[in-house]
Amino acid sequence: ATMPPLLSAIANAGRHGVLVKSAVAMERLGEIDAAALDKTGTLTEGTPEVTAVRPLPASGLDADALLALAAAAEHPSEHPLARAIVSAARTRGLHIAPAEDFTATPGRGVTAVVGGRKVHVGRAETPEGAETTVQVTRDGTPVGTLALTDRLRADAAPATAALTALTGTAPTLLTGDNASAAARVAAATGITDVRADLLPEDKVEAVRDRERAGRKVLFVGDGVNDAPALAAAHAGVAMGRAGSDLALETADAVVVRDELVAVPAVVRLSRRARRLVL
Ligand code: ADP
Ligand code: MG
Repeated sequence: ATMPPLLSAIANAGRHGVLVKSAVAMERLGEIDAAALDKTGTLTEGTPEVTAVRPLPASGLDADALLALAAAAEHPSEHPLARAIVSAARTRGLHIAPAEDFTATPGRGVTAVVGGRKVHVGRAETPEGAETTVQVTRDGTPVGTLALTDRLRADAAPATAALTALTGTAPTLLTGDNASAAARVAAATGITDVRADLLPEDKVEAVRDRERAGRKVLFVGDGVNDAPALAAAHAGVAMGRAGSDLALETADAVVVRDELVAVPAVVRLSRRARRLVL
């Protein structure tokens, strides 16, 4: 039997390593005329590494003590920055103390009680250079910062160029990270419309703004913080490998094979199928 075009497009998407969840989702992917991309885990590989540990002199902590404290608070978190901090502490052979009363706030950071003191790891007020910077506070007092960097995906630039060709406009970069870290990734991929320091609800607003302006937006993201934007967009695609469960559940499609170029490939498959349907 011959399969309906949208169903064979789903099968073809599977061959590209993309799981499209329904025929309706497949159809929406071909309708998009704008794209917005998350940075961490989407344009970058999503496996950042700690590049500097900077205790404040007044804290009385050395670099290892600061890193161990941050790792203890981050240990229960599945955020890529948390994983990087815990693995840096392990690499240095540091003891990671147990944490109590852990809470994570998407797009902001984590809080936990470590050794009877309240530790917060999250957004830094004054990031230095083109790095992702997080601040560590203990009982409300800043004790130092950690710098992290994440490698650009090998196919970030070609995938961005392909989405530009398919939509007629360069994608927008939407990130919770600071402006200089965002600018570094934008410059490397040819993106000029950059929104940094966004909270998860700001990502949603950025998507809605473009939808209100008459665009059908494709949003690509991976984090818990991306789930609301994935839901608000005309079509939402989650990067599977580093993706949070919530992002994978919310998205119309999941990139299972870890390649960003699969996203424009699936948009093309949908358009071809829609031409056969119409
Ligand atoms: P992105 O939009 O790049 O995926 P997020 O929204 O997840 O970023 O996070 C935005 C910012 O919030 C991070 O750059 C960091 O400063 C802070 N943050 C979020 N989660 C954590 C965490 N688990 N530990 C430390 N900082 C965090
Ligand atoms: Mg992300």
